Amino acid sequence: MLAPKNLLKQFATGLVETECPRCGSEVEVPFGQVCQSCRLAVTRRAKRIARWTALVTTAAVGIYAHLRMPDDPTSRTIGAVAVLLWYAFSYTAVVRAARLLLK
Ligand SMILES: [Zn+2]
Repeated sequence: MLAPKNLLKQFATGLVETECPRCGSEVEVPFGQVCQSCRLAVTRRAKRIARWTALVTTAAVGIYAHLRMPDDPTSRTIGAVAVLLWYAFSYTAVVRAARLLLK
């Protein structure tokens, strides 16, 4: 008796495009994906958008935290950590969203 075939693998390898849907160059890419150079270009652009978005929103959050936090050192430290975390999370979120939208 034959062993059952892996249907997911057959499906994944069966759908291959012969040209990149974004730039039109002739490469074999999985269905719905773009070529390596397009992926790098999209990632580079997404990171640039995310860096500027995170900087602008972090500056706004930093100004707000500076104006609204009490003047004791513990509050200042917590505010500074919150601003740093804001930058990291907003950068990560915008990179992921921009990668999906620019694809
Ligand atoms: Zn391409």
